[in-house]
Order: sequence, then C-alpha cells, then structure tokens
Amino acid sequence: MATLKYDDNGRIIFTEEMRKEYTILVPQMAPFHFEYLVDAFNSEGYKAELLRTTDYDLIHEGMKYAHNDVCIPAMLVIGQFIDAVKKKGIDKHKVALIITQTGGGCRASNYIALLRKALKKAHLEFVPVISLNANGFEKNPGFKLSPRFLHKLHDAILFGDLMMDLVHQCRPYEKEAGAVNQLKAELDERLRHYFNHKQLFSWRKSKKEMRHIINAFKALEYDKTPKPKVGIVGEIYVKFSPLGNNHLEETLEKEGVQVVVPPLYDFFLYSFDSRAHDIKRYGGPRKERLVLNALVWYVEVRREKVRKMMRNAGFETPIRYKALKKLIDGVIDVGTHTGEGWLLTAEMIDLIKHDAPNIVCTQPFGCLPNHIAGKGMFKKIKSLYPSSNIVAIDYDTSASEINQVNRINLMVSNAFRNFKEGSSS
Ligand code: SF4
Repeated sequence: MATLKYDDNGRIIFTEEMRKEYTILVPQMAPFHFEYLVDAFNSEGYKAELLRTTDYDLIHEGMKYAHNDVCIPAMLVIGQFIDAVKKKGIDKHKVALIITQTGGGCRASNYIALLRKALKKAHLEFVPVISLNANGFEKNPGFKLSPRFLHKLHDAILFGDLMMDLVHQCRPYEKEAGAVNQLKAELDERLRHYFNHKQLFSWRKSKKEMRHIINAFKALEYDKTPKPKVGIVGEIYVKFSPLGNNHLEETLEKEGVQVVVPPLYDFFLYSFDSRAHDIKRYGGPRKERLVLNALVWYVEVRREKVRKMMRNAGFETPIRYKALKKLIDGVIDVGTHTGEGWLLTAEMIDLIKHDAPNIVCTQPFGCLPNHIAGKGMFKKIKSLYPSSNIVAIDYDTSASEINQVNRINLMVSNAFRNFKEGSSS
C-alpha cells in the first residue's frame, strides 16, 4: 500500500506510487464531455473512473456531510464521491478523488476544502483529493498536466461539444427510435481508441475523427418536421449534469421539443478571457494576459474548423466567442464575471436570436451571482426581445420536482403555442 505523504499544510499528496495503484474517481459533471475526459486520463496512464450514479443515496450523503448552506453543486459532488467510496466495492485505501478548482471569485474554488472536510467527517480522511486547475494550485508529483495531456483534455471538450450538438440536433428527428443513442455509443467506443495516441498535437487525426462523426450523424434517416427549440442555460453544473437538473434534457425531449445547449468550451474561454480582462483593467502580469489571449485565439481557430465541417454537412453551428461577447453590449458589463456572469446573459440572447426563444435558466438554489446574471436580467431581455419565453428553475436537493416540472411544462406549452402561431403567420 502506498505510504501517505503530506505537504506543509497537512494535505495528502498524490504520489507517483499512487498513480500506479490508485483509481481516480471523477464526478459526472457534463455527460457528453466527461466521458472523453476520462478517456484522456486513462490514455495517459491513470486509472480513472467516471461516476454515473444519480440515486437518492448520494443526495443523502451530500446532505449528511456538507453543510446545507453550501452550493447545491458542491453538495451533490461531495455526496457522489462519498457514496461511491463507501459503496463501490473498491479498496478505500486505493482510491483518490479529483475535482475542478476554478480559482475565480465564486465559492466553486472552495469545493475542494469542503470535500476534504466532508471526508474527514465520514472517517475517510486518508483519501487523497486532486485539484484539477489551470492556475498551478496544489502540486502533486503523481498528477501532472503535461502539454500532451492538456491537449487531450482540450480535444475531449471539443469532441464533447460536437457530440452534444449533433445529438441534440438529430435525436428529436430520428426515424428509428434509439438510432442516435446507438450511434453515439458506437462513436464513443471509437473515440476511446483515438485518445490512446502519443502525439503532442493530433490536429489531422482529430479532424478526421470529427469528419467521421459528422458524416455518421448525417447518414442516419430523419423526419425533419420542425419542432420548437428550447435552450438550456445556467450555472455550469446544473446546466449540464442530469444529477443537478433532474434529467432536464430528457424531460424536455419527452415533451417533443429540440433541446439546444450552448457549448461547454464557451465557459472556459469566458474564464480565460475574464482573467485577461481583469489584468488589463486592474493590472497584473502582461505575459499572463498574452498567454490567455493566445489560448482563446487558438481554441477559436480549432473550433472554427469544426464549425466549418458542421456547416458543410448541413448542421447548425454555435456562435463564435467574440460574436457571443458582443451580444451583451449595452446589456450587462463584461466585468460581471463571478459565477457564469455575463456569459449567461449572452447565451440567452444568442438563443433568442437563433430561433430558440424558449429557455430554461437553471439556477442552484442560493447561487447569488447567477441569479443576478440570469433571473436578474429577464426584465431587460424581455424588453429587448418580447418574443422570449424564459423560465427560471431553482435546483435544490429539497426542491419539489413536481413544481419544477409544472413550471417547465408551462413554458413548453407556451413554446408550442408560439411556434404554431409563428409557422401559421
Ligand atoms: S456559481 Fe453559484 S453554485 Fe457555483 S459556486 Fe458560485 S454561488 Fe455556488
């Protein structure tokens, strides 16, 4: 068994020895993307496992070991980890947890401390916790973000966004029920092999995979009778995670609409850009700002290639980051970047402008920054775009699911009515 080593602050360090022996549990935060993130981890010699549980036991573990004042995403992630460590049938002394640390002004940066506190309370204080961050917090000799690994993580998000977009554009129109899900499962398996490459950059290879994916979706048979589109925006965890939003995507698709979810990559670009913005406005290392700007530029170049392939195949494509940012001119300041900040407002405007005026704005209960940039902007958005049909849904472990569904159904029935009126006018 690996010997536990601690840093000066008493934190357990994830060592080289642990890298060989330990399984790293990854919380399911975004189903389309985290599958590939875990593939990238495993291709780099880690033993990573994605937690797919969504049952009530884990919610209870979260409520038991995290204070009810903490953000719902933190409570659910903590609950999912503790539930898995207790139940998984793996050696508790050979398991580590990994969690993202944003480093922004929001409480998300402290989830890691809350998780360690919860582990202690659950008598699991010997479980190492790895911080996944781009700021160099908490060094671990057994977990290093090499340039190739970083590039694979970047690819995982690109593939995740592409897959999510294609599934959402195709599934509501498939002629054969289940065809899209089956195709996705086959492509996921294929991608598992893709991540095993040893190249630093794999542009040509990834472009080839993307073209294959796009063509495979294009080749399925569809009934293209148009359906109303419903966008999902909100706090990053409850927006993407079925555990956080009570399987919102599924609920909406069952109602017969096409779901539109803005890409995950926009959130990362927004985070880089926000830091660059702060350096410019308040001072800070010029070199860091240049690197951040270069990162945004690089990702956009890669994303543009994906958009081009999608457009050529007849699919709709997400907006460019710069154009997205422009949408909030005169609506909300770019300095509003705690939580999802201006990005949340921009995504709503983008959806409205691109045929999806029906929006579910997912908000963790008590999430102040996103209530300001989400619900707090509804009046302004409604005055600018009277056709918008937006509903805010609070997500809380003790919220009534019936209430959530009733509010969603009301918004969907308005969406169908507006859609009918729009198509008959
Ligand atoms: S954005 Fe909201 S839910 Fe997320 S950490 Fe901040 S306050 Fe908590």
